Parts: sequence; C-alpha cells; structure tokens
Amino acid sequence: MTAVIGIRGHCAHCDMTFELKPWQLNAIAIDEPFGCTYCHSCLQLCCHKQLRQFRALDQWALVRPGMIILTCATLLMALVAEWVGLLSVIGQLNVSLIAVLAHFLVLRYARHRQKMTLNLQAVSPLPIEQLARVACTRLGQQ
Ligand SMILES: [Zn+2]
Repeated sequence: MTAVIGIRGHCAHCDMTFELKPWQLNAIAIDEPFGCTYCHSCLQLCCHKQLRQFRALDQWALVRPGMIILTCATLLMALVAEWVGLLSVIGQLNVSLIAVLAHFLVLRYARHRQKMTLNLQAVSPLPIEQLARVACTRLGQQ
C-alpha cells in the first residue's frame, strides 16, 4: 500500500479534506474505524462503491513496475531488431520513442486513477462494554 499516494479523505463530521496517512489507509483496508486528523471523531469508509475503488488501487500499484519491464523489453527488442537488420536506425528510434511515450502516458493515467477523495462517514466507536463482551466471548471459546 505504500506505493499508493495522493489519496485524500473527506471528514463528514468537520468537513475537512486531508491527505490520508499510510496507517489510515491500512485501517480503511481492514475496515477499521480511525480518528480524523482534525476533529478526532471516529471515521470509516461506508460507501461500497468507493471501498471497491479503494481495493482496486492495489492493482494500479503494479502498473508501474510492470510498465518499466515492458518498456525495457521493447527498447531491447528494438535494439536487437536493428542489430539483426530487421529495423533501420530510424525505425529503431521510432519504436523506442513510441515505447517511452506510451510508458509515460500509462503512468500518467495510473496516477490519475489513484488520485481520489474518499468520503468518510463519522461512526460511533464501539463502547467499552461491548468490547469487553467481545473479549469475554473470545476467552470463553478457548
Ligand atoms: Zn473531522
């Protein structure tokens, strides 16, 4: 998750928008409520659509290393093709240029898709009694 940056959260309680820290992103990922940076009220991502988008971000994080490998392979293949005689020098330059251009376009798109603002709803934290009851039940099961 550390590769994902630029995700912001909007607090429904104090109406502030802030950059989410890695631990807050982790909390969202495991569906745990966490404190707002400003008003410290308990926040949770309740919107299922946004939650699905958020979970899909993991796949976007793989785009960057994947594209680096793909671009390097294309550049290498163009060089070999020129060396073998399949491509002219101009052809090799064109292929390399298109590969590098496509590389940056895809990364730009991936970064654009990763920039999102999550609408966080204020939830009431679990009362202590309830937590104690959960703990007692767990202990009783052992
Ligand atoms: Zn807040």
